[in-house]
Parts: sequence; structure tokens; C-alpha cells
Amino acid sequence: MGNSINDIHMEDFQNVVNDSLMRNRSILDIVSKIQTSAGRVNRSVVKSVTHCGCLEIDGKKQAFPQDASIEEISELLSSQTNGKLCGSCRANLEKEIGGSLYYLAALCNTLGISLYDVILKEKEAINTLGSYSLR
Ligand SMILES: [Zn+2]
Repeated sequence: MGNSINDIHMEDFQNVVNDSLMRNRSILDIVSKIQTSAGRVNRSVVKSVTHCGCLEIDGKKQAFPQDASIEEISELLSSQTNGKLCGSCRANLEKEIGGSLYYLAALCNTLGISLYDVILKEKEAINTLGSYSLR
């Protein structure tokens, strides 16, 4: 596989994470930080609803006809949100997503996994499964 710009960016990210991770190098710290940072991503979404109010959640059962095709179902399903993230909430969420990626990259470093390869493989899997991917 050749070195594309994307390859280099992702490798660079993994290297930066590797160099910065002085203290919590243990895999036990890393896996628990992955859990914590994922929780912080969710908390940030919730705070944009409950503290800021720029986003609203409009949750209810999403019904669709029994004989609907995959394409029809995906058109009928909604994100169940109203509104749009304000600048401040977007910045917070981006920060928390970054933190989450940081610890995922740290896990990859510890176990010799390329984050870029992971993303490529996931993309291939999605393309192979197409609309029938039920993730
Ligand atoms: Zn907001």
C-alpha cells in the first residue's frame, strides 16, 4: 500500500499520541480511558440539549410499513433531533470526540494496530454489506 496523504496524517496522529502518552501507558489505563471518553462524548451531546438548548431530542417510536424496502425505511427513519449545534456545543463535542480518538489511537499503538487500516477495513465492510448493514 502506498503512502497517501491520508496515510501520513493518520500515522502522524498515532505518533503524536504515542509521544504525548507519558503517564497512562498501561493498557489498563487506556481501556478505562476509552470508556470514560466515550461517556464524555455522550454527556456533551446531552448537555447541548439540557444546558444550552441549541439541540432538542424528539424521541418516539419510529414506525414504518411491514413491507417497506430498505430504501423506504432509511428515508422514514429520523435522527430524532431538532435544531442545530451552536458554535460552543460543537466545539465541546469536537473536543470530546478528539479525546475519544486519542485513547483509541493509544490502544492501537500499544497493540501495533494501524488506525488507518482499521478505517479502511471498516469502509470496505460497509461497502460490501451496503444497505443491509445492520450496525
Ligand atoms: Zn449549544
